[in-house]
Amino acid sequence: MNQAEATSTALAPLRLKKNEERRLRAGHLWVYSNEVDAARTPLTAFAPGQPVLIEAANGKALGTGYVNPHSLICARLVSRDPAHVLGRSLLVHRFNVALALRERLYPQPYYRLVHGEGDALPGLIVDRYGDVLVVQFTTAGMEQARDAVIEALQKVFKPAGILLRNDSPIRALEGLHSYVEVIGAVPDQIDLEENGVRFRVSVQAGQKTGWFYDQRENRARLARYVKGMRVLDLFSYVGGWGVQAAAAGAREVVCVDSSQDALTQVAVNAELNGMQGRVHTRKGDAFDVLRELREAREHFDVVVLDPPAFIKRKKDVKAGIEAYQRINQQAMQVLAKDGILVSASCSYHLEPDTLQQVILSAARHLDRSVQILERGRQGADHPVHAAIPETEYLKALYCRVLPA
Ligand code: SAH
Repeated sequence: MNQAEATSTALAPLRLKKNEERRLRAGHLWVYSNEVDAARTPLTAFAPGQPVLIEAANGKALGTGYVNPHSLICARLVSRDPAHVLGRSLLVHRFNVALALRERLYPQPYYRLVHGEGDALPGLIVDRYGDVLVVQFTTAGMEQARDAVIEALQKVFKPAGILLRNDSPIRALEGLHSYVEVIGAVPDQIDLEENGVRFRVSVQAGQKTGWFYDQRENRARLARYVKGMRVLDLFSYVGGWGVQAAAAGAREVVCVDSSQDALTQVAVNAELNGMQGRVHTRKGDAFDVLRELREAREHFDVVVLDPPAFIKRKKDVKAGIEAYQRINQQAMQVLAKDGILVSASCSYHLEPDTLQQVILSAARHLDRSVQILERGRQGADHPVHAAIPETEYLKALYCRVLPA
């Protein structure tokens, strides 16, 4: 028996019930707790994050993975080869595969490097800012592999610094606590470039990992709509859309966010690109600001609406749809005649068709009609796993709003 076989046979088995291997065989990576043969391999016998050998009901190995007995998704498949466990050498291999894609896509090292299941690394997110890597572990199994992850990242990328931004609320679903840790040198402010425009962000204090790479292609698509136009960037964060609109020739841009820190950074980013005269900021709740703008009879040729996820869990769908409808309707009320609305949603639970319905319904309330010009999705550095619909979450509709 060779070394690899010795490793996998040492793993505790997780036995599935009859026919419950079908989803994994079809390409998926998740096992739900009701699919486990609890008589043979009770989930309570496993520690959160424990590596396992996943077996079909007949005892045939399906691959290696890890368990979390406290989560509805009680196991995730890591490799279909029973000899490969989640360790340094598998991670090095997967990082190289992930890197090869990004190097084909982008000339510069600013991108999402690892997109969890989409890159066959369930529970791991890595965003790259040059020689700084910002990492999130979202499952107990990946948290348990943390030392191997750090070693493998160091081997493949030789980064100056790694920041563990393990403060995402979704960790609570896996029973994980929140922490942030710096390994090596992680400067307070980091520069990146997107679509030829420069940005400075704080990876330690910023939202999520500091920057939303998922909208890169959608922001690029905005350029041809904004030349000479007045643009409103709602939920702007540090100005990803707004500053790029100014760089593409917008006459005036107003960025709205409830966070003063984000808006201070908008000003920094505008200045970095010599756009300070054309980019303005307005602090406030976007719903309130839209009401004030409407009362002041202000109009914009282009409105970008890229809010945080209004629907985080399935039970929030109804309230979330109402919020999307309200904000889209308010956004249309400040659109100039023949205006363009770019309406995005990063809620997985809001189906693409539903977002279109929401926009249509908002328009009909105002007696307007809508032409859909383009549809955007998450960038190619956020690959969708073809068997896992949950890995596709971002939508952006480019709409022309006309009188009815
Ligand atoms: N459009 C941004 C990403 C949005 S992140 C980009 O392209 O990078 C969500 C942003 O919305 C955060 O900056 C947060 O501060 C802001 N925010 C959340 N709720 C808000 C509200 N009710 N009104 C205004 N801004 C809000």
